[in-house]
Amino acid sequence: MRTEIPADSPRLGIIRRYFDRLPVSESTPIVTLHEGGTPLIRSARLSEEVDAEVWLKYEGLNPTGSFKDRGMTVAISKALEDGSRAVVCASTGNTSASAAAYAGRAGLVCAVLIPRGNVALGKLSQALAHDARVLEIDGNFDVALNLTKEMATAYPITLVNSVNPHRIEGQKTGAFEVVEDLGRAPDLHVMPVGNAGNITAYWRGYREAQQAGWSGTLPKMYGFQAAGANPIVRGEAMSDPRTVATAIRIGNPASWSGASEAADSSGGAIGSVRDKEIVEAYRNLAAEGIFVELASAAGVAGLRQLKERGLVPPGATVTCVLTGHGLKDPDWAIAGAARPKLVPAEVRPILQELELA
Ligand SMILES: *Cc1c(COP(=O)(O)O)cnc(C)c1O
Repeated sequence: MRTEIPADSPRLGIIRRYFDRLPVSESTPIVTLHEGGTPLIRSARLSEEVDAEVWLKYEGLNPTGSFKDRGMTVAISKALEDGSRAVVCASTGNTSASAAAYAGRAGLVCAVLIPRGNVALGKLSQALAHDARVLEIDGNFDVALNLTKEMATAYPITLVNSVNPHRIEGQKTGAFEVVEDLGRAPDLHVMPVGNAGNITAYWRGYREAQQAGWSGTLPKMYGFQAAGANPIVRGEAMSDPRTVATAIRIGNPASWSGASEAADSSGGAIGSVRDKEIVEAYRNLAAEGIFVELASAAGVAGLRQLKERGLVPPGATVTCVLTGHGLKDPDWAIAGAARPKLVPAEVRPILQELELA
């Protein structure tokens, strides 16, 4: 028996699912890996801890393991529609992983320009697996980024770094899904901030959901940077941002104004959390069965800070976006764990060791 997938199924991928709300038309070739439709998981532990209803949007379950796929499906579909022959980005992280996968699907060349030196190939394993052309540039990250812009201006090549406006359009669908699952917008929305494209996107998504009549209210938007990489909190760009959470190690966010607008007009704020707090939140989430990338835990660390500052009303509905999957960087899980203990090959000592007998 063969049945049609219903038009509102999350399994369709975000472009088919939200066709009328995205910059696409019947002539757009849809390049999808069926991204989106990620679960909104209630955290019993966090709900109790902060005396609120805490829901986790687990974006690590997207096809390449991060929310970047929501934006990339739109960016790559539009690149194909516009006649591009290749896409390019300057990234060693989740952007290049996503770009390489979707470009591969579209039959486009994906070029990844990385700064010279310190090339951790592990971070690039997905891009390499998807056959991206990774080139080491004789210069720093800014030089690489400027080259990508130059290539995109003069040749039929599409830049898919966060300055690509189609990415923000695709990413706003995360807010649509939250509103669908809750039946309305949350009271508070908390998330990590790096280049600030995603907080810009969620705010846009919530406002569109309100205009469409899906929610009568808007959330207060709270974004969290790492304390060593917090240009928005400081009010000035940083040349040497530092944090263990590599996905938010950004000194001069591309969507700075979008983040400020989201925080200001929603009555929220942009704050920062220490690496220690990020790592603790990361471990707590994993203990509850939810494995995320370090950067993803910044939102949960931020929620704890909001609670301490009295900014979480009792019983409030709160969403936290968990931006990427823990398998992206398993070294961190191993680093914190004790080595397996040697026990005799008998049931009793095993049970004793487990304190079950
Ligand atoms: C890209 C990314 C971020 C930061 O998102 P921005 O849109 O740059 O603010 C956070 N976490 C993960 C896992 C990411 O891949």
